[in-house]
Amino acid sequence: MTGSVADTILKLCPEIRLEREVSMAEHTTFRIGGPAEAMVFPKNAQELAAVSLAARKAEIPFLVVGNGSNLLVPDAGLRGLVIRTYPDTGAIRLTEDHCIIAESGASLAKTAVAALDAGLTGLEFAHGIPGTVGGAVLMNAGAYGGEIKHVTETVAAQGTEYAEYGLAECDFGYRHSRFEESKETVLWAKFRLQPGDKAAVSARMEELKARRRASQPLEMPSAGSFFKRPMVGYAGAYIEQAGLKGFAVGGAQVSEKHAGFVVNRGGATCSDVLRLMEQVQEKILREFGVELMPEVRIINLEE
Ligand SMILES: Cc1cc2nc3c(=O)[nH]c(=O)nc-3n(C[C@H](O)[C@H](O)[C@H](O)COP(=O)(O)OP(=O)(O)OC[C@H]3O[C@@H](n4cnc5c(N)ncnc54)[C@H](O)[C@@H]3O)c2cc1C
Repeated sequence: MTGSVADTILKLCPEIRLEREVSMAEHTTFRIGGPAEAMVFPKNAQELAAVSLAARKAEIPFLVVGNGSNLLVPDAGLRGLVIRTYPDTGAIRLTEDHCIIAESGASLAKTAVAALDAGLTGLEFAHGIPGTVGGAVLMNAGAYGGEIKHVTETVAAQGTEYAEYGLAECDFGYRHSRFEESKETVLWAKFRLQPGDKAAVSARMEELKARRRASQPLEMPSAGSFFKRPMVGYAGAYIEQAGLKGFAVGGAQVSEKHAGFVVNRGGATCSDVLRLMEQVQEKILREFGVELMPEVRIINLEE
């Protein structure tokens, strides 16, 4: 590659909206992270496919970001390209056979509301997860007994080729899908839902919203549950038992409300969060013999 990342991308995709040196703190729910060298905002799945293929061919390191609700970005920022799908790559369409086809940058909340409006059940669990369809497919996001894999029929993705995968080919597991390893860009997903009772769907969404509000520190910046669920027990329970609720390093703090969350109590840096993470991991290993692994994606574009 010769020339800057921005110039190369604009040459290959002249129509795309691009910004340079964009603070990632503005594009993550943790409100942490230095500047991305270049950020593009594809307006639909076709443009998303084209720009990710162009970056791949030009060997430009790139990161697809949905709502940035599961990301920890370095303080030094990201050299390379960020492809931001939320909210522009966000079309949602209903089919006649009770399915929803949502582009990867559609928020889960909006997708779940589209299901509700159409009297369809199956996406209630996803309503309160603050991510996009693409991020949720990549992570097989789940909550309150529901998981993306329970509703997925097809996922379209762009690697070096365009491909459509059926459920069995997505290799969904706990917070895992094939797209983690394949590094393909998720373009859209088709969810199979069931006809349901609108009032019941709405009541379930409200119930889950209330449970979330009561238990999670939604009023503070975070990236959700910081650690994956270990083989036995819950990360938050071990952290609380170890007396680490409220433990802080700089601006990063184990939430006082839910010990499974790390929050940015103001001015937290990525290195604050990493130091806090290491100290929590060490103490939990020492006291309980349990190894906590981060669920949050710690981004390094040079990897
Ligand atoms: C308050 C709060 C509560 C949360 N509760 C839950 C919960 O109950 N359950 C749960 O599972 N998660 C939860 N999360 C975490 C997060 O919302 C989910 O993991 C969500 O699915 C991430 O979606 P996103 O669009 O924000 O992804 P991002 O954070 O933008 O990205 C996450 C990963 O997906 C990749 N990615 C994003 N879009 C694409 C794409 N189109 N193609 C390929 N890769 C892509 C990124 O490169 C990155 O590796 C919570 C987070 C917060 C802040």
